[in-house]
Order: sequence, then C-alpha cells, then structure tokens
Amino acid sequence: MTTFLDLGLQEPITRALIDLGYQKPTVIQEKAIPQIISSDTDLKAFAQTGTGKTAAFSLPIIELADQTNSNVQAIILSPTRELAVQIGKNIEDFSKYLPNLKVATVYGGSNIDEQIRKLKRGVQIVVGTPGRTVDLINRRALKLGNVKWLVLDEADEMLNMGFKDELDKVLDATPETKQTLLFSATFPREVESIARNYMTQPVEITSGEKNSGSDNVSHEYYLVSERTRYQALKRIADLNTDIYAIIFCRTRRETQEVSDKLIQDGYSADALHGDLSQNQRDSVMGKFRKKTIKILVATDVAARGIDVNDLTHVINHKLPDQIENYNHRSGRTGRAGSKGISIALVSKKEQGRLRSIERIIKKKFVHTAVPTGKEILKNQLFHLIDTVNTTEVNQKEIADFLPAIYEKLEGLSREELIQKFVSKEFNTFLSYYESAADLNDLSSNRDSSRRGASNENMTRFFINIGRKDKLNPARLIGLINDQNIGNKVEIGAIDILDTFSFFELDKNFEAATLDAFQANSPDFEGRGVNIEITKKREGGGGRKRGGGGGRRSFGGGDRKSGGGSFGRRRSSEGSSNSGERRSSRSSSSRSSDRPDRATKDKNTGGFGRRRRER
Ligand code: AMP
Repeated sequence: MTTFLDLGLQEPITRALIDLGYQKPTVIQEKAIPQIISSDTDLKAFAQTGTGKTAAFSLPIIELADQTNSNVQAIILSPTRELAVQIGKNIEDFSKYLPNLKVATVYGGSNIDEQIRKLKRGVQIVVGTPGRTVDLINRRALKLGNVKWLVLDEADEMLNMGFKDELDKVLDATPETKQTLLFSATFPREVESIARNYMTQPVEITSGEKNSGSDNVSHEYYLVSERTRYQALKRIADLNTDIYAIIFCRTRRETQEVSDKLIQDGYSADALHGDLSQNQRDSVMGKFRKKTIKILVATDVAARGIDVNDLTHVINHKLPDQIENYNHRSGRTGRAGSKGISIALVSKKEQGRLRSIERIIKKKFVHTAVPTGKEILKNQLFHLIDTVNTTEVNQKEIADFLPAIYEKLEGLSREELIQKFVSKEFNTFLSYYESAADLNDLSSNRDSSRRGASNENMTRFFINIGRKDKLNPARLIGLINDQNIGNKVEIGAIDILDTFSFFELDKNFEAATLDAFQANSPDFEGRGVNIEITKKREGGGGRKRGGGGGRRSFGGGDRKSGGGSFGRRRSSEGSSNSGERRSSRSSSSRSSDRPDRATKDKNTGGFGRRRRER
C-alpha cells in the first residue's frame, strides 16, 4: 500500500494527515503529489469534488513552500467563498505541525481590511475567490510577483460563473516561471482554451476516466410532467425515510419556490441561493451540516462549496442548463467511499438530454417508477416500527405514570394495542395516500406543461446574442445586472441558443428593462445588444421569435389538489394552494426580509419531516 510518506511528504505533514484520519492517498493524490513535488511542469487534472483533489494540490505546495520566506508563494483560486474557506481550512489542518507556514483566505462579502492586515503580516499561501483576489491585487495589498504555484480549482465552474476576466488578471499578475495547476471536473472549450493559452505543455492526470462520474453513484430518472414534478419529489422524500439530500434547481426563484413548498408541507428543508445574505447562507449550511435540515434546495452556484460526505441523494428537480453541470451535482453524493443516488426528474421532452449526460458520465440512467402510495406507506410504517423497536425506555421517568396507563389500556389484547397504535399514527397518512394517483400514468394527469415552465409573473425577452458570442447563463445574468434595471430584479428561465437567446424577467420590470437596454446600448463581445419582448413558447416545439408583439399568457392553473392529509398535519399533495400562496410571497420577498423560517420550526417530527407548530 502506498503511503503519504512514500509520496515524498515530510513527517509533520503525514502526522497531520493521520490526525485527520487520512490513511492512504486517493487516486488523484497518488498521481498528483509526486508529480508536483518532483517537477515544475504545469499540470492539468481531471478531478471532481469528492476525489480528494484539495489535498492533491495543497500537500505538495505545503511540502515545498519556503516557510522562512513570508512572500506569497502560492495563489489558489476557487469559484465560491464556501469552497475557498474549505480549502483554507484544509491547508491549516494539513500544516498544523508547521507553525511558520501561514495561509490567508480572501473572499468577497467579508471585511477587506482584515484580509489586508493578514496579508501584511506575511503568508506563503493565499486562497481566494477571483473577484476579491483581483480587488486585492488592484489595491496592491496582494503581491503575486514571487508566486511559484497558481492553482485554478474547479476551473470550469469559475468560467461558468463568468470569471474569465478575473482569471486573466490574476494570471497576468503572476510570473511566467510559476507552475500552473488546473483542476476541473469537466473540460469544455473555455477551460481547454485557458490550458492552451496559459499553460506550457501540461502533464495530464485523471482521478478516473475523464468526465466520468463516481463509481459510488447510481443514476436514476423519474418521468414526470410539470404537473407531477413536485408531487414526485415529495414521494421520493417520503419513500426514503432517512433522506439527506440536495435538490438542485436552475434558478434562484425555482429554488425558493420548491423550498417554500416543502417547508409548507412539513419537510425539514431550506433554500440556499445567491439572494440570501452571507449570514443566512452560513446559517442554512450550518443546519444542513448538523442535519437539523435534511433537504437542502440549492442552485448550482450556491452549492459549490458544500463539503458534506454522507448525502443519500442528489435530486435534479430540473436538469442543469449545461449538461456538464450534472457531473458536479451528482458528485456531491457517493463521496468518501459511501454510496449515493443521483435522481433526475425529467419530462418526456427533457428525456433526450439524459442520453447526452450518459455519454459524459459513461453510465446509464435507470428508469425508476415514481413510488406508489402503497410503497411509501409500507416503508414509513416499517420505519416507524423499527424506530419503536429501538427506542430506549427510561423507566425512571415514566414509572409514575405507568400504573394509570396500564389501567386505562386494560382489556386490550396485544394485537388490539398494536392495531390502535398503528392506526393512530397512520390514519391520516393512510387516507392521504389511499386516494393518491399513480403518478407514473402521465396521460391521466392533465399536463400543464403547455403553459411551459414559465411563470406568469415573468416576461420573456429575446436577445440577439447567443452561444456563438460566448454567451452563457452567468454572463447573461451579468449583462442584465450591468444595466442597473432595479435592485435585485428577478431573472427566470434562460435559454441560450446559437445566435440568439431568451430570458425571463420579472414583468414589473418589463418597461424598465427595455428602457435600460435602449439607453445603455450595451456591447457584448463586439456586438451591439438589443432585446425585445417575445411571446411565450407554446407546446414542446422549438421556440420562435415573437413578432415583437406583447407577451401572451397561458390560462390560469388547473391544478387539482392531491387529496387527503399526510402524516401529522394536513397537506395536499398537489400543494397548489399552499404553493401558490408561498411562492407569490416569496417572489416579492428579498434576502433582507426573508425570515429565517428554519429556526421557527425546531420540532422534528417523524418521517424526516418537521412537525409544525399548531
Ligand atoms: P475533496 O475532493 O478535496 O473535496 O475531498 C473530499 C473529501 O474526502 C473531504 O472531506 C476530504 O477531507 C476527504 N479526503 C481527502 N483525501 C482523503 C484521504 N486520503 N483519505 C480520507 N479522506 C480523504
């Protein structure tokens, strides 16, 4: 067995690794560590989160860094604050027996003066998000002239998020002689071009097959319609009594809506997205780590830095806009040796995209039927019985009450007692699922996908730039934000096509958006940008440009509620009423006034649900 000592790491580092419980190197560590220690050739590594890539690039840097010299010797760029903090913390842990080795983590949304002071005191390693790193370079607080190592971690994600300019600036601020280490789960064109332009004949290593998913993750898909998507999601949560999952959504709005509905329906859930303040995000993440929250509903970007090893499921409420992101999502489960399931909820129309994903992950999706009410009942019931079986009895505490209880239950046989107990727990639950439809029979559900996933509160715009202009969702959002349309205007669905695109935006800002684009006449990659309001899409066919006419809305919702009540509280499976009520509230709620609901509902009921206060 190869050990960390065999890879060329000094004893104080291997001792710290033992403290952390790292017994042997992972595949990527075994390949990257000796390579970086023994050679200053650039390195291109195909590695997903969960493979141990952080240690793969950090350990050799810690090994080689000159602790007697307090200049910045390594700069590590990562896409999000959470990930940067996690890398910084890992480096502190790895170097805890090297007291002179110092690391600073710099990121936006946090006091810059403190970060400047820390840099001034002298550090050898800096971990940063691209924006803040550039800010510090511009203020001359961060000097990269002596850098020996530049790490681009999750390079694909940084480019997805529109950090190309920042990467260019940091790359320019570092000396030619440095060694560049690029880690990415996927290698789309943009990442390849960074590698081509900024790296010299890099050595390539992989943590497995290029772009292939973890062997510990199985992939399932459930066929849904727009009408049954949320119900199917709930049934998956109900079937898996020990669920600990991230549900991925494409937009902040979708994230908030799904989370609001789940909370309303009594699940132990909360949302994580960019509209939340840093404190709110930290608080949600803290609860998720402690499992006070069992289901985290998140956007791709917000979930980037999450370091949770024992997720049971990753659920794609909608598939990501860029299929490469599926890999990032599913890689959140099946980590550190445990098994995980990645679920995609797809409509018939979306089904084709699974094939493209299968080509990337080199695995097949297994079609799985949405659980029936009966299956869920069986699982929940047995789970309850198991819980009862393993409940510890505190004789002392209940002793005083027992005689009276025995007296009250006198005359009931063992069987009768069990029947009554099960009925008490399950009557409402039974009646709820008794009448629940088979969600696999999509033809019997009036499909509202005709209305599209679009929201009636949104206006759909045509924009004359597309993929060929290097537009991606992050850059489009950036472009819209640059027009200063309004404070935190809500952006909905985005469709990037080859030469043009569509985006949805809060209809209250319809006129302001048109005016802003007209007044600013923005340029994008050398092209003048113009927008116009377009018709909403009909049916499943290709999207056509509207003739400049007004937006057309598809009639009101015709959602039926799913019937009875569930568990310990009333809740309709369709959740239409509650969902509607919540989402209209949430669409107007902003991060600053968003109540921290999770702290209100502390009592956790059975079935992975949160018992709500009555
Ligand atoms: P990463 O891919 O860097 O996000 O690491 C994924 C998880 O695996 C983290 O929680 C690490 O602490 C853990 N890890 C990394 N390397 C090892 C190792 N050699 N042995 C055990 N756990 C590890």
